[in-house]
Amino acid sequence: MEITFLGTGVAIPQKGRVQSGVLVSLEEKPLLIDCGSGVLSRFPDAGVSHTNVDTVLLSHLHLDHVADLIPLLKANWLRGKTDMRVYGPDGTEDWFSRVLGAYEYILDGVDVDVIELSPGKEFTPEGFDCEITCAATDHSVPTLAYRVTAEDGEFVYSGDTAPCRDIMDLAVEADLLIHECSFPAGTKVTNHTTPSTLAEMLEDYNNEIGSICLTHFYPEMRGHEKEAIHRLKDYVEGEIILAEDLMRLEL
Ligand SMILES: [Zn+2]
Ligand SMILES: [Zn+2]
Repeated sequence: MEITFLGTGVAIPQKGRVQSGVLVSLEEKPLLIDCGSGVLSRFPDAGVSHTNVDTVLLSHLHLDHVADLIPLLKANWLRGKTDMRVYGPDGTEDWFSRVLGAYEYILDGVDVDVIELSPGKEFTPEGFDCEITCAATDHSVPTLAYRVTAEDGEFVYSGDTAPCRDIMDLAVEADLLIHECSFPAGTKVTNHTTPSTLAEMLEDYNNEIGSICLTHFYPEMRGHEKEAIHRLKDYVEGEIILAEDLMRLEL
């Protein structure tokens, strides 16, 4: 399985990073996790056609994770691809119908299934050969972390969160944990992660976590990347990776 980071940033614009989006290439077809602003424009950069994407997992409904979902649907519709399945936490159905409700001309031309998920849910998205498990995160709105298990690998995507046990438990024995790291060590913040709060949590996991890829960086993280690696490297079995837009990881 190949993981392409389409966007590794947040709601504040910054050079080189658009908002959140991760494209997972499974054997059958790609699965998109989150679709923040700028993610759609990364498809040509990544050499992938947006029309290949008909399944999207949303971690939560904050704009930096969903702003390009309707533009993706529209781009697909303009190219004759009209079906889509959108999975997300509690509230996704209501959010989707309100937003798409403002664009009746698109609404009439597409066929979208919205499926709400809850923590603990395990499912296989239609047309895929992988299993996805959901866990609650520690964020300001209902947010889900996902573990994706396929034949050739297993990873966890944290969504937005302060470090929490439900995500770590999900990540034990996975090859990779993609974890948000919004701010540098020492920043006082709730609902998000810093290298110091993540290190504190990892202390209890005694190298049970494989590799960690940090993403979802605020501009404040710039210049503090090496410090983050240094702070975390002794707590994982594998390596600490810093996500960049268009970076690819193979599992
Ligand atoms: Zn958020
Ligand atoms: Zn976010």
